[in-house]
Amino acid sequence: KEAHAAEFERTFIAIKPDGVQRGLIAEIISRFERKGYKLVAIKLVIPTNDFAQKHYHDLKERPFFSGLCDFLSSGPVLAMVWEGEGVIKYGRKLIGATDPQKSEPGTIRGDLAVVVGRNIIHGSDGPETAEEEISLWFSPNELISYSSNAEKWIY
Ligand code: ADP
Ligand code: MG
Repeated sequence: KEAHAAEFERTFIAIKPDGVQRGLIAEIISRFERKGYKLVAIKLVIPTNDFAQKHYHDLKERPFFSGLCDFLSSGPVLAMVWEGEGVIKYGRKLIGATDPQKSEPGTIRGDLAVVVGRNIIHGSDGPETAEEEISLWFSPNELISYSSNAEKWIY
């Protein structure tokens, strides 16, 4: 079947240092994989504090901003780009509410995290931020376009 444009929607997902340190990489990746989304970029990086501030620039007026940037730059972050129909919005659904106390069971934060400052995962919140975050974390040649055998069964 011919791919339609919506299948190529992409979002930026990152496992924060707490998720990496707690050994939750495989658990989190598997939830996106099993849903039917496709991994198109991945790398493990320790962001500088400056870089973390760029990533969270929208939040610079918030009281937790500097603690948040210290935290994001405190260790390895697994940066990824996932692709598929509705992946931006549905990715946020898989992740759950910002505060793990309010995330539903069955979501990543609901099942695996307890407090808002250690909520293990980031996901872009809309098409503009997805584009912005993907280009902040990845260069174009790190995004891999490929077709998988599963696609004709998923779409
Ligand atoms: P989300 O990650 O769900 O998109 P936000 O963009 O609102 O949430 O906030 C970015 C991150 O800042 C959150 O994931 C969380 O780690 C942190 N954060 C948000 N609110 C608070 C808070 N009240 N106290 C501490 N950290 C917070
Ligand atoms: Mg956000």
